[in-house]
Amino acid sequence: MTLAFYDTLTKEKRAFAPLDRDRVRMYVCGPTVYDFAHIGNARPVIVFDVLFRLLRHLYGAEHVTYVRNITDVDDKINDRAARDYPDLPLNQGIRKVTELTERQFHEDVDALGCLRPTIEPRATEHIAEMRAIIEKLIAGGHAYVAEDHVLFSVATMPAYGQLARRSLDEMLAGARVDVAPYKREPMDFVLWKPSKPGEPSWPSPGGITVAGRPGWHVECSAMAWKHLGERFDIHGGGIDLVFPHHENEIAQSCCAFHQQRMAETWMHNGFLQVEGEKMSKSLGNFITIRQLLADWPGEVLRLNMLKTHYRSPIDWTLKGLEESAKVLDEWYALSGAAGNRSEEPARPDQSVLDALCDDLNTPRAIAELHQLRSKAVHGDGAQFLQALTGSLRFLGFLKVSDAEWNAAKQKSAGVDAQAVEALIARRREARAQKNFAESDRIRDELAAMGVVLKDGKDAEGRPVTTWEIAR
Ligand code: AMP
Ligand code: ZN
Repeated sequence: MTLAFYDTLTKEKRAFAPLDRDRVRMYVCGPTVYDFAHIGNARPVIVFDVLFRLLRHLYGAEHVTYVRNITDVDDKINDRAARDYPDLPLNQGIRKVTELTERQFHEDVDALGCLRPTIEPRATEHIAEMRAIIEKLIAGGHAYVAEDHVLFSVATMPAYGQLARRSLDEMLAGARVDVAPYKREPMDFVLWKPSKPGEPSWPSPGGITVAGRPGWHVECSAMAWKHLGERFDIHGGGIDLVFPHHENEIAQSCCAFHQQRMAETWMHNGFLQVEGEKMSKSLGNFITIRQLLADWPGEVLRLNMLKTHYRSPIDWTLKGLEESAKVLDEWYALSGAAGNRSEEPARPDQSVLDALCDDLNTPRAIAELHQLRSKAVHGDGAQFLQALTGSLRFLGFLKVSDAEWNAAKQKSAGVDAQAVEALIARRREARAQKNFAESDRIRDELAAMGVVLKDGKDAEGRPVTTWEIAR
């Protein structure tokens, strides 16, 4: 078994070996906290959660540090605070917006079965590190002060553009670059800028006398440095972050710390679209994790995400969700019968592990789970059942009890359990009175609601009717 990941920087799949086996280090760009996260934002969270679980398994849980930041300095946050809390001073409004959004984000991704990262640093708590990096860049001739801004001088870094694989001219043509009179070159980007009155502000670096705030890119360089050091193993995020965000992170960190690389491996998830279209508020197909969780158990969303390889684009569809729910139902029907799920060790089958070690090939891992299920049903049950259950738990599934899974399914199917029970009681009465026409009518009514009845007998031989949701 070799562990290998595709690296966006070198554009090849490379064998992975951590710089320090006792401290495997991964950084993933986290949310900007101003509103509910959408289902596209859930993709890196779920993908890198699977990677985190894999690394913990291979190197030992205590030897892996996963940092995912919280961006709590941003114009969108300021705008939201001014809109939602017009009577509060801006700073207090901002605190309310970021605290609320962070709580919502945690609730959502917890429901998706994601482990919390080892550290979730907030940008506003790392201003000193940002200033320190900026001072190093100025001292090294990589940054300059102009009109109370500090700018990174792209011309001082010959390797600039290596991640995005674009020349300066191509980047200029493709990017919406702010052309500002104080920039030496149009591609130079902001490390620090003055704050507008009332906005959050901190003492500025570079001898600037007015208070200011950091640019977005330097936030991640600073948080990664503080928690993972000058150079670390894996840096991840969505493909949209390659340029300019990650290109600029590399420029800042490599020039400040005199390193050839910032991260050994750069991993990027592909984009998510909805029913064949780009997700956007204007198209009306913008879905939050929260909205989906109202209709589907979180584990269905998780499986649906992992059916596609992380680097491919994913088309998020209702049909796909229905299929994912059906698959989980089959697995759970089987592995739920294996006993107390929460006490089963989260031990992946070797076939599942091999698939994940091959650039996190989750579709192949899922195909292996299907194999395990089919062997458990048709062949030597117990051994394969254990392998299926252990693999599911390892992948972040089977965290719910049978009762919870059933309740979640009922909810997502829009079935009112009390109404079902009442209809079953009426059918029982009809059958006791030998009114089979009525009892059949009730069975049909329930079937139309998506409820399937199973008639059987209890231990004392009395007739009992159980029911489940047919998908
Ligand atoms: P943002 O809050 O927009 O900075 O995004 C947070 C994370 O979600 C980043 O890693 C983005 O790359 C990722 N992301 C945003 N939209 C999508 C999408 N539609 N599909 C996949 N990933 C996305
Ligand atoms: Zn970042």
